Amino acid sequence: MFVKVAVPRPLETFFDYGYDAEELGPISVGDWVRVPFGRSKLNACVMEISNETPALPKGVGIKSVAERLSVEFRLPEDIVKLCRFGSEYYQYPIGEAMFVAAPPKMEKLLGTRQESGSEEQLVSKQKRERQLTAEQRKVLEGIQSAIQDRPDSAFLLEGVTGSGKTEVYIELARSILHSGKSVLILVPEISLTAQLRERFQSSLPEKVVLWHSALSDGLRQNQWRKVKNGEIRVVVGARSALFAPFRELGLIVVDEEHDATYKQEERFRYQARDLALFRAKQAGIPIVLGSATPSLESIHRVREGRVIHLKLESRFSGSALPVIHPVSMIEEPPVGAGTVKTPLAETTIRAMQETIDRGEQVMIFLNRRGYSQFLLCQGCGWVGKCDQCSISLTHYRKRNELKCHVCGTKTKVPETCGECGGTELFGMGSGTESLEEDLSMVLTGAKTLRLDRDQITSQKRLEETLAEFRNLQANILIGTQMLVKGHDFPKVTCVVVASVDSLLKWPDFRASERALQTLIQVSGRAGRAGLPGRVFLQGYDLDHPVIKILRGEGSLSEFVTDELEMRKMLHYPPDSRLVRYRFEHEQEGRCKEFASRVGSLVRGELGEELADRVLGPSEALLFRAQNRYRYDLYFKSPTLDLLFRVSRSVRRVSAEAGVNLVVDVDPYHS
Ligand code: ADP
Ligand code: ZN
Ligand code: ZN
Repeated sequence: MFVKVAVPRPLETFFDYGYDAEELGPISVGDWVRVPFGRSKLNACVMEISNETPALPKGVGIKSVAERLSVEFRLPEDIVKLCRFGSEYYQYPIGEAMFVAAPPKMEKLLGTRQESGSEEQLVSKQKRERQLTAEQRKVLEGIQSAIQDRPDSAFLLEGVTGSGKTEVYIELARSILHSGKSVLILVPEISLTAQLRERFQSSLPEKVVLWHSALSDGLRQNQWRKVKNGEIRVVVGARSALFAPFRELGLIVVDEEHDATYKQEERFRYQARDLALFRAKQAGIPIVLGSATPSLESIHRVREGRVIHLKLESRFSGSALPVIHPVSMIEEPPVGAGTVKTPLAETTIRAMQETIDRGEQVMIFLNRRGYSQFLLCQGCGWVGKCDQCSISLTHYRKRNELKCHVCGTKTKVPETCGECGGTELFGMGSGTESLEEDLSMVLTGAKTLRLDRDQITSQKRLEETLAEFRNLQANILIGTQMLVKGHDFPKVTCVVVASVDSLLKWPDFRASERALQTLIQVSGRAGRAGLPGRVFLQGYDLDHPVIKILRGEGSLSEFVTDELEMRKMLHYPPDSRLVRYRFEHEQEGRCKEFASRVGSLVRGELGEELADRVLGPSEALLFRAQNRYRYDLYFKSPTLDLLFRVSRSVRRVSAEAGVNLVVDVDPYHS
């Protein structure tokens, strides 16, 4: 017998080995084996089995599998398919892709004795009893009757924050468990998994486990085994739980489906929500995508008739959504003394003071992403945009240039505003670290905590900080993107967004969509527990369609239609397929020259008609990292086939030239 295996090396091909079934036992696709490879031995996954002698190059003798791991670790067929599809779609080597699904601590399992991890102790809590509201029940019944017609239906559950989406998931899970199948709930952030697990655990008659990479290897291995043999039937997990080897999966829920953290940003760059749709379709099971602010990808799927749209429009508590107060920074410039300026306006500071005087809490959101700057007109809020790409131009202060980081177009910084002719143009976008200090100058009785990547270096720190804030040890929480996620603080009645412009003008074609999602989510933090909430949106461009929606003056569906139309016109997703080729090299010149060469090559291959779908090369937004320069080339492909074809040639020339290439299909972050 012969097997083709995938090895954990950045290679596209499988390797052939002989297999002695009499000695090692029966073998199947998905089994893990140990094989001689070069001078060492490697763990590998069996991808194909045949009785025919493989054709090997002359002089190469076939080697044999040395060992086979117990069948309890065999990957189910659907997981093998999922990895194969993911590897092909995201253009990541199959061997390495297989290993995201491997049982943890594989190296310990093969070649040495097995050991088992400690069993997780579960606190058994009293079961919660609850009744769905009429609205929730209607949604649940809608899902159930659609599933009866078509078991592989996909749903988009759009429900305002606090409308009880989670309650619907729980009841749906209950009915799936009742039918003997398992349930997978994906959550974007590890920090939210514990909270959600609690809620599922206290409502369901089954053990509910957490699944994410921060758990110990022993524990993960134990869980892996139990999920596979059906002992564990409910998993709440982050991205990687998508690859959990369920015996009989009956439902996938993707909570906060719009969240960009579903996109893995290194190595295997998969989008867990999109792969979840594939997994559900393959398995013929329902999938529910839930969000208060659905992604345009999902809305597009709804409009194409591939996904069923359901809505929850009222908050369970009946508490009103917070009142939105736009604060124009044109009319109220930042408050400051001398040369020191806070990024806050008088109105905002007053509201914060009132809030803390009442013993309530404030959250301030800053979109501080270090390395992007843009030029803004103090008079009207104008920010330069690239004509071709509809993306805000990035401001390079030293070179006095504005530049589109997607197509690379450069212009000199203008003397006057392109909109109002004003002359007060200044760079903004970052530099808000000092806010914590600033607050103590303008507020009395402020006790602040910070939630950002500099401050929060571990899961433990995060939990501690959140607990301190919840216990009212501080009255102001300053945070970046981390603040947005579903945390529930009953005493928060005032939310401040320091600069809506830095969200709206982020140089990415998804900027408006993301700004809307972020602002709705951030606003949803205010007034959760019956206390009236207020949200202060500071900014220059307060007439932006996104801000109008928040003010209750604009129509969301019109915005979505316009946005989708714009994407179609400019060939962006979800209409076209976007891929980014990132070239990395220690020598700047070499990297740039190579990227240009590939650009011309691809344009030539595509011909005149499609050449304008290739953008760049341009310097990556993060131009230099780990001692390497980075140039990006984007291709907006009309079809997936063409994307694959172009990728093959880009990969080939890059390999020949010895330039490091990182391919990102459906890229999310610049
Ligand atoms: P979402 O997931 O849409 O943000 P949640 O499911 O978290 O909303 O619900 C918000 C709050 O309302 C939670 O505290 C939840 O326990 C409560 N809640 C929602 N629906 C019900 C219900 N039918 N019965 C009791 N409590 C509910
Ligand atoms: Zn202006
Ligand atoms: Zn451009």
